[in-house]
Amino acid sequence: MEIRIEKIRKEFDRYPALHEVSLGIKSGELIALLGPSGSGKTTLLRLVAGLERPTTGRIFFGNEDASWKPVQERNVGFVFQHYALFRHMTILDNIAFGLTVRPKSTRPPKVEIRRRALELLDMVQLTGLEKRYPNQLSGGQRQRVALARAMAIEPRVLLLDEPFGALDAKVRKELRKWLREFHDRTGHTTIFVTHDQEEALELADRVVVMSQGRIEQIGSSDDVYDRPNSPFVFSFIGDSVNLPVSMAHGDVQFGGEAIGLQHPTDGTGQIFFRPSDVSLVSEGPGISGKVTAARRLAGTRIVEVDVGTSATPHHVEIEVPLDSSAERGTELRFRPTRWKVFPNA
Ligand code: ATP
Repeated sequence: MEIRIEKIRKEFDRYPALHEVSLGIKSGELIALLGPSGSGKTTLLRLVAGLERPTTGRIFFGNEDASWKPVQERNVGFVFQHYALFRHMTILDNIAFGLTVRPKSTRPPKVEIRRRALELLDMVQLTGLEKRYPNQLSGGQRQRVALARAMAIEPRVLLLDEPFGALDAKVRKELRKWLREFHDRTGHTTIFVTHDQEEALELADRVVVMSQGRIEQIGSSDDVYDRPNSPFVFSFIGDSVNLPVSMAHGDVQFGGEAIGLQHPTDGTGQIFFRPSDVSLVSEGPGISGKVTAARRLAGTRIVEVDVGTSATPHHVEIEVPLDSSAERGTELRFRPTRWKVFPNA
């Protein structure tokens, strides 16, 4: 099911949680809503679900305007972070629940409900556990039951709000991989909310980066990591270094000195780069400073460097080759190899 979100604004007591957000989601896409706490991810998900009404703007499911449709008519499946399964029901009954409470006219016969629930149990790879109760399963298994339960009603859209948030790191990683495979098998249009960038980058076809009720960037994992389009996205996703720069006569300058990079417009701005996207230079223009600490990681050396002038000191961390002689107290000069300057407004 294709979803189109058009200029959605959502206010809570006049407080704008979302400002005119627009987003198109293709049928079968796996979309991550990624952003810090309070950026509006859950609000956007709840609007798609029908648990909230937009203040202005519209949401289309296919060609149908679903903005004001009640939740039970939208045919969406949800899984939340703390998805409470019914404790007194077996796993199979939990999965079948959505079908058993349907009005008689659309409720499948009992044997059919059982058959479908068993099929879903198999799909989430928990065959054999149908007679167990939720407290007899691990956290990861419970989350898979929650997914099977959401799928039982054959939803047009699957909405997951931090579905693995409550689980430990190892289980999270396993479930992540599993969810990707599950999605590829079933092909449901899926939107999931996370504040974990690794989870978003690894899982999603496209990542929607949100901040303060706005969409900052929409793109593939490569787009948002390699081609961030704002200082926010650059610093939110992955490690980054940023320094204030000025641009004059085509040269980028830091601390009043050209650093060997060019930029087409004059003015001031900020340069951003990844700590690994630098090369050490022995002479010529570059950013120079004193190493204050050096430590070895598996295949690289991380050095902390004080750069800038005494009036405007900056402390940065960069990655240098293992065989470099950078030690605490030595002078070092480097130049970013991949970088982006964001001019000040
Ligand atoms: P988190 O990662 O912490 O869940 P989020 O990105 O999902 O954050 P939202 O829950 O969508 O953010 O909240 C966005 C903003 O809207 C926040 O400032 C929040 O306080 C506010 N907000 C959300 N729901 C309500 C509500 N029912 N009433 C009033 N304000 C709300």
